[in-house]
Amino acid sequence: MKRKPENALEIFQLLEKSNCRKCGEKTCLAFAGAVFTGQRKLCECPRLSRDVIERYSLEPDDRNIFEQDREKSLKNLQSEVVHLDFAQAAERTGAQFSGDKLTLKILGKDFSVNTKGELFADIHINPWVAIPFLNYILHGQGLPVSGRWVSFRELKKGREWYPLFRKRCEEPLKRLADIHTDLFDDMVHIFSGRQVDQQFQSDISVVLHPLPKVPIMICYWSPEEGLGSSLNIFFDETADRNLDIGSIFTLGTGLAQMFTNIVLRHGFTKTISSE
Ligand code: SF4
Repeated sequence: MKRKPENALEIFQLLEKSNCRKCGEKTCLAFAGAVFTGQRKLCECPRLSRDVIERYSLEPDDRNIFEQDREKSLKNLQSEVVHLDFAQAAERTGAQFSGDKLTLKILGKDFSVNTKGELFADIHINPWVAIPFLNYILHGQGLPVSGRWVSFRELKKGREWYPLFRKRCEEPLKRLADIHTDLFDDMVHIFSGRQVDQQFQSDISVVLHPLPKVPIMICYWSPEEGLGSSLNIFFDETADRNLDIGSIFTLGTGLAQMFTNIVLRHGFTKTISSE
């Protein structure tokens, strides 16, 4: 039966990891990323067996529809911004309003939108950041963070979304944390995260701020005595009123994808090649 890889890491794991360049890319990692984003096809790696290609090939049409949907949502949100009261939105969301721009810190980096709906950022503008950012300033209630952590399932409509959230966000992050022990240090240093006292008896707990009033806490339990490791993400109990559940899901899965790409680029290749 055909399977669609969920992320670039899964595609990378299918490859030979020899960086032979026969596909025209400099590394197997670059090839995996290009396949995941739909720019290349799995069958363009001449080192893969027909069996693997047939089992894992992406359906290009599905991916295109998904990309088109995201582009459409982004455009709709940008056109809504034109009617937004920027001063009021800044006060409600904790953003800075200066000139014609509203600016927020996302993972410690500036992200802005102007009164025409144009986006500006210190980081690459991915739809997985842009869509939650716009939903947050347009529709978020701006409630103060309560300090009480709840699971994704406890958020409004979280139960319906949870199986997919687990698969696309918590499981890939757990796999990364299992192989890349510096993952949490990287989160703290690169994305202005904060290691906090261990919560829910976890071994590591890190708090990140993808949006000012939507903190997330990632807790990791190391494997012990026959029990596997586990990883769960917690949200402030106000999260579902400061951001819609679809955007919370998008942020979580986008973060997991970004960390995967970073680890693949800087750390995981080393781990694989030294095995
Ligand atoms: S993806 Fe395949 S062809 Fe490309 S570098 Fe890796 S092994 Fe070589």
